[in-house]
Amino acid sequence: MSEAQQAHSLLNATAARAGQRLQTASPARERDSVCASIFCPLCLSSATSHAFRDAGCEVRACSHCGLFFVHPYPRGPEQHRRVESGEYPEIELLDCSRRYEGERFYYDRHFDVIAEQCDGAAAILDVGCGTGNLLERLADRVPCHRLGIELNPSAARTARKVAKCDILEVPFETFRSARKFDVITMINVFSHISSFDAMFESLRLALAPGGRVILRTSEMSRRVSRWNQFHWGVPDDLHFLGLNTLDFLCAKYGFTVASRLRVPFEDELFRRSRCRQMGRSGWHNAIKRTALRVPGALRLARNIYAAALGERLFVSFIVLVARSEDAPKSPSGIASVLKRGGNAECQLQPR
Ligand SMILES: [Zn+2]
Repeated sequence: MSEAQQAHSLLNATAARAGQRLQTASPARERDSVCASIFCPLCLSSATSHAFRDAGCEVRACSHCGLFFVHPYPRGPEQHRRVESGEYPEIELLDCSRRYEGERFYYDRHFDVIAEQCDGAAAILDVGCGTGNLLERLADRVPCHRLGIELNPSAARTARKVAKCDILEVPFETFRSARKFDVITMINVFSHISSFDAMFESLRLALAPGGRVILRTSEMSRRVSRWNQFHWGVPDDLHFLGLNTLDFLCAKYGFTVASRLRVPFEDELFRRSRCRQMGRSGWHNAIKRTALRVPGALRLARNIYAAALGERLFVSFIVLVARSEDAPKSPSGIASVLKRGGNAECQLQPR
């Protein structure tokens, strides 16, 4: 057993006990600047601190790898089922036609930059394909084998209809395929998958040699405010990258950043086509319609937001390639936690 595996075993052995303690932690304890019993789900460091709360959930930040994560952190893919069942009323569940319309607006803005990365691909996998608009567009632009993964059954049905390709309803963490993919897309999906180990293992196994992973996800600075977004989508969104977390992920799992485009959220939030994406909240939709009708309103709103909260939250378009060596590097985060104190009583890394 390797040192890293031994570290995992040691930490796993006490996870249940520690998990119990986390469930009963008092609100005052949660707000402590550093809480020794809460471990980062990525690097397992105990140096985590309260960042903000939204929708009754605490979001904490890790001082070691920079990850922001919900606390308590779920231990498996059951979180998706809880969200889909409507257990969290703050999370907006859109019907498929509205979701498809939202995807159309979204990919009107972002499809070209994704398609550029897909040129020449023989096989493409879209993880969390939603109602299938990306796969549908790729059919025209990049003639190749296409496959989608979508856990929501009705979205998967819509995706099969519009994209005319296979859509699997399996957690990506358990996905295995004899076929290898030149491009794997994860558009606004990364933050929903609860096991980093299992996610990166699936990515590595599914990628063809020289293949690319295209991520679209959030990155944020330690100065981020709870008000950078009205709704954070927690706990459906489980974690957000800090500005340096991607470097940690790549070192741990054996990937390299081929390109990264980091756009301030304010430049995305106040785009006209984003405002055309209607949700279920009537008053939100009314604000959007007004902003679209009043000349200069969007620019003014953007400038006010940028002055108060700008350059703290970013949407990033990231391309990763697997490093040529087969095995990922030793998870230095675990080793450093053990070296630092021997008080590593639990880990929240679900398997
Ligand atoms: Zn961490």
